[in-house]
Amino acid sequence: MRIVIVGAGIGGLITALRLHNEGIDCEIYEQSDQIRELGVGINLLPNAVKELAVVGLLDQLNEVGIRTHELFYTHRLGHQILRKPCGLDAGFTLPQFSIHRGSLQGLLLRAVRERLGAGAVHTGHRLIGFEQDAKGVRARFVHRHGDASQPVHGDALVAADGIHSTVRAILFPAEGPPRWNGVMMWRGATDWPAFGTGRSMIIAGGNTAKFVVYPIAEGRTHGTKLTNWALCVLTGQPGDPPPGRQDWSRPADPADLERHVGLFRMSLDHVALVKATGEAFEFPMCDRDPLPYWTKGRVTLLGDAAHPMYPMGSNGAGQSILDAASLGGHLARHADPADALRAYQDDRLPATSEVVLRNRVGGPESVIDEVERRAPEGFSRIEDVIDAAEIEAAVKGYAQASGSSQEQVNRPGSVAGSRTPSAEPG
Ligand SMILES: Cc1cc2nc3c(=O)[nH]c(=O)nc-3n(C[C@H](O)[C@H](O)[C@H](O)COP(=O)(O)OP(=O)(O)OC[C@H]3O[C@@H](n4cnc5c(N)ncnc54)[C@H](O)[C@@H]3O)c2cc1C
Repeated sequence: MRIVIVGAGIGGLITALRLHNEGIDCEIYEQSDQIRELGVGINLLPNAVKELAVVGLLDQLNEVGIRTHELFYTHRLGHQILRKPCGLDAGFTLPQFSIHRGSLQGLLLRAVRERLGAGAVHTGHRLIGFEQDAKGVRARFVHRHGDASQPVHGDALVAADGIHSTVRAILFPAEGPPRWNGVMMWRGATDWPAFGTGRSMIIAGGNTAKFVVYPIAEGRTHGTKLTNWALCVLTGQPGDPPPGRQDWSRPADPADLERHVGLFRMSLDHVALVKATGEAFEFPMCDRDPLPYWTKGRVTLLGDAAHPMYPMGSNGAGQSILDAASLGGHLARHADPADALRAYQDDRLPATSEVVLRNRVGGPESVIDEVERRAPEGFSRIEDVIDAAEIEAAVKGYAQASGSSQEQVNRPGSVAGSRTPSAEPG
């Protein structure tokens, strides 16, 4: 079996490693001429780390990431709502990592090239279309200046081509652009004195004004960490057309940051942190509605192409890693690739659709919204505002739905693939 993977983001690269582990031949085709380590921070929950450990990448994660120790939820004005230990410190058998997206992409890319060969990733190949029949798939690509490359043949095509997926647009031509929830997200990372335990993460504020901060790597000077921050503010209305295309690398306007960063009271000097960051990026918080199906014959969607979601609950990259685990398992088990792609869809589509919908209302962080609704000016004692059991129910319910609960992660076997089949057409 030979699989054509489109896109060398986190989803495409981990898919190649999972398929290689299963002895399945594959190659990746990426539109960019060069794969640069772009982005800022992301979190990998223990469920995703478990799947990365299956392909032997735990040591590499340890080298470049930070083992997250604890997570704080606070009111926008600084009052603590929840302190939650994370990863090993919470009793999981695997750590949680806070990591630079580019470093993660870099370590996956090196592993792909070492294991599958230097030529396994074809850069400068933008997919523009495909044809399929009972024997296989023929994928068509163009190079940077629009000149066509040789078509590529495979037994199946996996589209890991991100939120603006070409394959998704071919399968669902009437869908239109991603949906904006009115929240603009500004992100950056810079070396900064370690705060808390040096492995702490803070999420301050709910859906209309949120500041997130956590370290993602050791800093270049003693006592510092490369510290990631994200500032999210409701600047439009849900359903408004997003202000500009959803480009993860679009530079931020410092005036926007200055205007909004003072909304928060934090235990660290977050205003100075933002000011000290050389380059920040903006991204309108967008997702898409869950799809009725991802698989059509020998073609399927994976990662953000299948289920772009708001970055809540540390799930964006993690769900694409779970997709890859499920897909690899099904391709190894089924002789017919179309059967495998359908079984993968049945595993993963219901689970990820639920996460997309839960993230629309804030994911586990919706408890912060609830507290702010009840106590807009803050509080002295959290127990006067909300019951501990209510907080726990919200956080645990989300963990269960996203496959990241301790029970799901600590039991033997893969976290992905535990769902009952849907009845969607293939
Ligand atoms: C440059 C960049 C920076 C990011 N930064 C952050 C961040 O800071 N924080 C965060 O939470 N998330 C970030 N993300 C998103 C995050 O990586 C994803 O949400 C998650 O990892 C799932 O990844 P994915 O592989 O499905 O999609 P992506 O990571 O978006 O990867 C998709 C890949 O497909 C390629 N591609 C697209 N169309 C085609 C085509 N027609 N033919 C061939 N190749 C194609 C793209 O160039 C890209 O390499 C970023 C994504 C990108 C692309």
